[in-house]
Amino acid sequence: MSKFLTGKLKALKPYTPGEQPKEREYIKLNTNESPFPPSAKAVEYAECEARRLMLYSDPECKELAKTLSESLGVKPSEVILTNGSDEVLNFAFMAYCDESCPAVFANITYGFYKVFAAVNNVPFCEIPLKDDFTIDVDDYVNSHGTVFIANPNAPTGIALGIEKLEKIISSNRDRIVVIDEAYVDFGAESCIPLIRKYDNLLVTGTFSKSRSMAGARLGFGVASEKLIEDLTRIRYSTNPYNVNRMTAAAGVGALLDDAYFKDNCKKIIENREWTKGKLKGLGFEFTDSKANFVFAKHKKIGGKELYEKLKAKGVLIRHFEADKISDYNRITVGSIEEMKTLVDKIKEMLGE
Ligand code: PMP
Repeated sequence: MSKFLTGKLKALKPYTPGEQPKEREYIKLNTNESPFPPSAKAVEYAECEARRLMLYSDPECKELAKTLSESLGVKPSEVILTNGSDEVLNFAFMAYCDESCPAVFANITYGFYKVFAAVNNVPFCEIPLKDDFTIDVDDYVNSHGTVFIANPNAPTGIALGIEKLEKIISSNRDRIVVIDEAYVDFGAESCIPLIRKYDNLLVTGTFSKSRSMAGARLGFGVASEKLIEDLTRIRYSTNPYNVNRMTAAAGVGALLDDAYFKDNCKKIIENREWTKGKLKGLGFEFTDSKANFVFAKHKKIGGKELYEKLKAKGVLIRHFEADKISDYNRITVGSIEEMKTLVDKIKEMLGE
């Protein structure tokens, strides 16, 4: 850190992304990436667009906004495209949180929320989850701030039903409620149909997980036109070309290949349930994850030990040191071959 960094940023604790090691080949089950390649159509569209990289991208992302809105059943003016959903989440912190309106989120949730609050210099309030890691809906009814809920939650994978979310949204008509649906395609219900009913609702989504495009950095927000206008003001005040040409084109290609997307989601759900069954037989306990990961702890082996031993055997999973979850690991659901290797390595470990 240089002596020139401002005081506010000196204290900032940046988000820690999952490891991306280069020193050896791992089975990577630590960052919730898809085991499947992006759609061939996405690759083809991106390759074609690469020839036009001398030109700036379309700041309005017109074609992508049209294709995405059609696929979501909303109007193009009700979506914003961003550089990963992290960007639209950051915009929401910038737009809707301040001294008089803190960010409100669970104590166990996506770790970036705290960082977004800190980097934007806004206060935040963490609401404890119940002992079973579920949300107490009443904690968010008539909230004193802008609510952020990951649904399914991370790293637990637990999803809230739409009627419970609607209770939260409808009780906060003077506050914004952000529902982060990064993992929604793996078995949870989307709140997007509620955006016409509630002008205080912002739903965020991503192409990183279910559409196998984490490296492209493509996310989106869906909300009433007025909220999209707010977020667009911020986008034009930071980086109007936030979605590059290749990514925008890849996004269109991916959306046109709906069968591939649906098939991959189905496979991940099947692999997740298969993995849960095997892990149960090996003495694990886990939450009812509706995401592309399993959140599991072993009855006898500590979370850190499991993580370290599996790493030594060439399988990377995600361990969090945080209170209450340090016995757990978040294991991304990969291909069935990867999950079989995971199970074999755990069996090997238990026998040692
Ligand atoms: N929300 C949640 C809950 C996540 O786990 C992630 C992925 N780390 C994101 C949002 C952001 O994903 P991306 O920026 O790749 O769209």
